[in-house]
Amino acid sequence: MKIAEIFLRKPTTVSFEIFPPKPDAPFAPVLDAINRLSALRPDFISVTYGAAGVHRGCTMEIAEHIAACGIAALVHLTCIASSPKETDDILEALKERHLRNVLALRGDPPVGDPPFGYPMLAGKIFAKDLVERIKSSGGFCVAAAAYPEGHPECPNRALELFYLKEKIAAGVDFLITQIFFDNAFFYGFLEELDRAAVALPVSAGIMPVFSQKQVERICALCGASIPKKLRLLMDKYGHSQDEMQKAGLEYASLQIEDLLEHNVRGVHLYTMNRPELAEFLVANTKLRQAL
Ligand code: FAD
Repeated sequence: MKIAEIFLRKPTTVSFEIFPPKPDAPFAPVLDAINRLSALRPDFISVTYGAAGVHRGCTMEIAEHIAACGIAALVHLTCIASSPKETDDILEALKERHLRNVLALRGDPPVGDPPFGYPMLAGKIFAKDLVERIKSSGGFCVAAAAYPEGHPECPNRALELFYLKEKIAAGVDFLITQIFFDNAFFYGFLEELDRAAVALPVSAGIMPVFSQKQVERICALCGASIPKKLRLLMDKYGHSQDEMQKAGLEYASLQIEDLLEHNVRGVHLYTMNRPELAEFLVANTKLRQAL
């Protein structure tokens, strides 16, 4: 099923993100995580592709497993280190597997040498170009990324909104945001879209904090800020993974309840392949009513 149709049917969607195992790690735990996440009956599960330009393998196989569980699969795809032919081949393979939902991303340049034998296209290609390619291939529902706190490479907010509008005009059906820990950024972003007459659904990216180190690393990479309230929690509980996870889940629950009160179109949980985090949040917030 095309995810755009789910957004048409439902006031609020609930979705999860997972990532493939590293090349030397076993497959089974990821499949187990998908089985548990699928049991919650989310509207879709997305699966990442080649984060940081590496580990591209098995995104498609994992997406097939999600679909076999009866859940719509959203396949992430990047273009920064891919030849046009490679992208076209992937799109054909997705079609053969009846995988029709793609999150079109530029991706980040890999650290070190380009590993795939293609010239890096950094500065020459953007997600908009991939959206155009996917749309011209035909038959896909296309999502794109958005950044309530701004993308780290774009210092000018007005320019970023201009580029986002270009990307949307190329054929985007819905947006998923980068993580944020202060809902005010998300509401401000929705107002910006409103002023720019952009009316497509936006799913709010929420990540329950379970490890101080992990969240600091991710925020340093993606530019999300850590509000004082969360910083205080990390100072207090960061020494213990158990206590940090408990506090992080409580923090995410409050964020989610507030988002649902504001009638957001979607909540997208970055599960970090830990189904227990999603299970807790579904059981302990009004997310379960949105499912
Ligand atoms: P774009 O939309 O192309 O934007 C990138 C930058 O270029 C922005 O600063 C933008 O303002 C600027 N820009 C856009 N158009 C132009 C133009 N015409 N001229 C000049 N500047 C321009 N990465 C992975 O590798 N794998 C994943 O699976 C993955 N999943 C993600 C999922 C979500 C929901 C999000 C939010 C991010 C994900 N990322 C993933 C990270 C993403 O690839 C990076 O944030 C990347 O730096 C930008 O990708 P984009 O698709 O937003 O790029």
